[in-house]
Amino acid sequence: MEILSTINVKKTRKPHRCFGCARDIPAGSSMCKINHVDGGVISTTRWCDVCQEVWRNHMSPDDEIDMGDLKIEMPQEWESARLDIEGEAVKNDG
Ligand SMILES: [Zn+2]
Repeated sequence: MEILSTINVKKTRKPHRCFGCARDIPAGSSMCKINHVDGGVISTTRWCDVCQEVWRNHMSPDDEIDMGDLKIEMPQEWESARLDIEGEAVKNDG
């Protein structure tokens, strides 16, 4: 996999699913958008702040995951990063 570009979006205009934790991140959140090419196919993944932090601390640039794996494989690390970044409040979408 080759990274083509990395863009930090301060406020998303639309809701997006985070690749690392598979959560739906509401519009107006900050996310990182990564364009990459894999086997000749260009695709885009988006990462929430929590997953960026978990990746920085626990993963190496060559690691590859499937959607949601960051949260599934490292639930404790992921949850502690989430508490640091998002605080205790958990939104209830009803
Ligand atoms: Zn995430």
